[in-house]
Amino acid sequence: MSVPLLDVNAQNLPLEAELKQVFENVLRSGRFILGEEVEAFEKECAAALGAKHAISISSGTDALIIALMALGIGPGDEVLCPSFTFFATAGSVHRTGATPVFCDVTTDCFGIDLESAKAKLTSKTKAIIPVHLFGQSSEMDAITSFAKEHGLKIIEDVAQSFGSTYRGRACGTIGEIGSFSFFPSKNLGGFGDGGLVTTESFELCEKMLRLRNHGMHPRYYHSMVGGNFRMDALQCALLRVKLHHIGEYAAGRTRNANYYSRRLSKISGEELILPNDRDHAGHVWNQYTLRVPGRRDELKAHLTEKGIGCEIYYPVPMHRQECFANLPEHSLSNCPISDQLASEVVSIPVYPELVEAQLDEVATAIESFFP
Ligand SMILES: *Cc1c(COP(=O)(O)O)cnc(C)c1O
Repeated sequence: MSVPLLDVNAQNLPLEAELKQVFENVLRSGRFILGEEVEAFEKECAAALGAKHAISISSGTDALIIALMALGIGPGDEVLCPSFTFFATAGSVHRTGATPVFCDVTTDCFGIDLESAKAKLTSKTKAIIPVHLFGQSSEMDAITSFAKEHGLKIIEDVAQSFGSTYRGRACGTIGEIGSFSFFPSKNLGGFGDGGLVTTESFELCEKMLRLRNHGMHPRYYHSMVGGNFRMDALQCALLRVKLHHIGEYAAGRTRNANYYSRRLSKISGEELILPNDRDHAGHVWNQYTLRVPGRRDELKAHLTEKGIGCEIYYPVPMHRQECFANLPEHSLSNCPISDQLASEVVSIPVYPELVEAQLDEVATAIESFFP
């Protein structure tokens, strides 16, 4: 039996009848841009996350861009972000004209390392983007005090962690703005691209609503330059169906992660390091990421041969990316843990619909590699 890294059909097809009905409703409504479905989805997301305001956005990448624009970040500014993350975090900063400054991460949650961030502060630093990577929150108390002390805005990159918490608070509601993604592989996976921003600030909400639609208000009057960052009404309507199940999805991922942690704890050690599940972090397990110092590529080949889907998130940290080679020295230096993780990590299937026989197959394959 082969086990894929992700099986979107296992999650979507049980909802087929409902999804078709929703498609038909939107089709017949003739309303495809903004409107009722979009507003309803935003209200429901805000409620699910415990956020004051939620605004749907065309993608998780655009959500980061609009967050940066709303905070007035641009040319001449520097933004601290982890080097070990998906490219969009860094690319979005660069696209605003600001300079991404890459900080190292810690091995306990793969989040930004504040010692590294402190060393990279300059008079130009305006914001910090903690990334809640793989479903687990960064150390938000420390990040919040650090940001306060140095007058920095916080944008939380919650693309991989819809529904995760930090000391009981929803990730995305702690900093100035939270940025989410509905890319199909994320915890709330859509049927195409989509994203969301959350904020507790009425002013930032108003600004982002305007920026989402060309900075227009009222119609054909533009006091600022925005863009087309709207998410389709159809996508919102379809995702409303799945949003009802987000609790089950998170429970499924947690059950699977606990299964692996229980099974693999017997063989974990220097050669196989299991992901941390910190008590104060409500992990939602977008990925179950192993560290395999020295033998990662060998294990990946072994799993692939056994028909087990696995992937390296991420093989090249941001400070090593060709497109960033001309950034200032302090942005690219001293990220040894990011380099180390890029050579050690491999993620295995953890999607909610996995059945026990599949979990057993994955665990058995890993056990057979570490006899
Ligand atoms: C997926 C992802 C994004 C971007 O989301 P898209 O919807 O694909 O544009 C941003 N940051 C992180 C950490 C991600 O994993």
